[in-house]
Amino acid sequence: MPFGKSSMSETIFSKIIRHEIPADIVYEDDLVLAFKDISPQAPIHILVIPKKPIPQLAAAESEDHALMGHLLLTVKRVAEQVGLEDGYRVVINNGVDGGQTVDHLHLHILGGRHMKWPPG
Ligand code: AMP
Repeated sequence: MPFGKSSMSETIFSKIIRHEIPADIVYEDDLVLAFKDISPQAPIHILVIPKKPIPQLAAAESEDHALMGHLLLTVKRVAEQVGLEDGYRVVINNGVDGGQTVDHLHLHILGGRHMKWPPG
């Protein structure tokens, strides 16, 4: 495997960022990517990720300050783009107890139905 592709930060999302495997991309810019979740838990379920391979929210650093803001504003932009004017939920699963399964920071946008609280 070429240098740079075998680091611990490599995940399935790295391949999606490099367009090496297919994804239903709804927004992309230099810093972030948004694509439909492959196993949707709501009528609309989109993931927003940084292109920088930050493994989880707990691994974000002060230097990521602007990127974190851009991720949240991308959530807002994508939610508007897909017509979630009645609201939506934003979820970040962090670490084992948070239920995180892919070690690349991602924000879930869930919408198109009424969400319950508390989550499981
Ligand atoms: P989490 O459990 O918070 O780590 O969320 C990981 C999410 O990634 C799950 O909702 C998966 O369905 C989703 N997922 C995993 N592989 C893919 C993929 N290739 N394309 C789109 N979504 C994926």
